[in-house]
Amino acid sequence: MSTPAATGQSIQDRLRDLGIELIPLPTPFPVGPVNVFLLKGDPPVLVDTGLKSEESQRLLESRLAEHGIAFPDLGRIIVTHGHRDHMGLLGELQRNSRAKTYSHPHVARQGEADPDSGVSRKQFYVDILFEFGVPDEITGQANSLYDRFRMLAESFVVDEIVEDGGRALGYDIHFVPGHSPSDTLFVDTQRGFSIVGDHILTNTNPNPLLRRPEGEQPRAKSLVEYRESLHKSRKLDLGHCLPGHGEPFDDHVSVIDRILSRQDKRSEQVLTLVREGENTPYRVSKRLFPDLPLPNLHMGLSIAVGHLELLEVEGQLASAHHGGILSFEKSA
Ligand SMILES: [Zn+2]
Repeated sequence: MSTPAATGQSIQDRLRDLGIELIPLPTPFPVGPVNVFLLKGDPPVLVDTGLKSEESQRLLESRLAEHGIAFPDLGRIIVTHGHRDHMGLLGELQRNSRAKTYSHPHVARQGEADPDSGVSRKQFYVDILFEFGVPDEITGQANSLYDRFRMLAESFVVDEIVEDGGRALGYDIHFVPGHSPSDTLFVDTQRGFSIVGDHILTNTNPNPLLRRPEGEQPRAKSLVEYRESLHKSRKLDLGHCLPGHGEPFDDHVSVIDRILSRQDKRSEQVLTLVREGENTPYRVSKRLFPDLPLPNLHMGLSIAVGHLELLEVEGQLASAHHGGILSFEKSA
């Protein structure tokens, strides 16, 4: 009786038994639709909101209506992390309901929309292009891509800031930074399920992206941080996992092991490229992804520098700045 298809079906059935509805909403990103979850109950809880777009909002409204729920009925909103496909509609939902929002302190700071933050974010990314050895002509084209940051600033409020190791709404809270600084697991040990956001995904690599540091802190080594978080969540009892993209799954340990082993292979590939003389993040990214379209430059650079930094932390590479450009070589 226990074919893989039947097992997949039973996860869906168990979610239904738990009163959880999966609502996939469209995104224009390569990752595909984003998962929003409705936790039925009194009051109903929404996990993530989807992207800020009319299409996404209309679909969310109609899917909630199938369960007799309108925006003003929502009592709580859980935000798994501060990426716009997961929380783009948060401001809109907050204007249309009295739902209390629960999230990470970093998401709370994102909501304090500072009119200058778009400008300083853009400057950070432009500086990074130089530091990573991107040629001037490409930097010129990439510049305009970063203008969008200004338009995305939107204010919202996090009413209840969750704490690592704490509890909220009956969940154990675990911070698992890496994919973003604010990734948070909400673990319901009693009912045997966890809200995992983009920390663990089965359908795509949750690549940690380069990001602007807060205040005077050094730039985070996102991939190093992400792997530490994966090792942490590997030891937790997560039960059924509700991810930010793709199908819900059980057995997070084997999913994490697959992510780690794919990363190990890529690190070996990057080490070989450095041995062949590719010494900057840009040159490594060009060899990993020769035909990468410009809008994906940021992702390519994030992956390249992530593995270069990981190899450095592991003692296999050493880095230095030459004329402001970050370069790597095999450590002596
Ligand atoms: Zn996502």
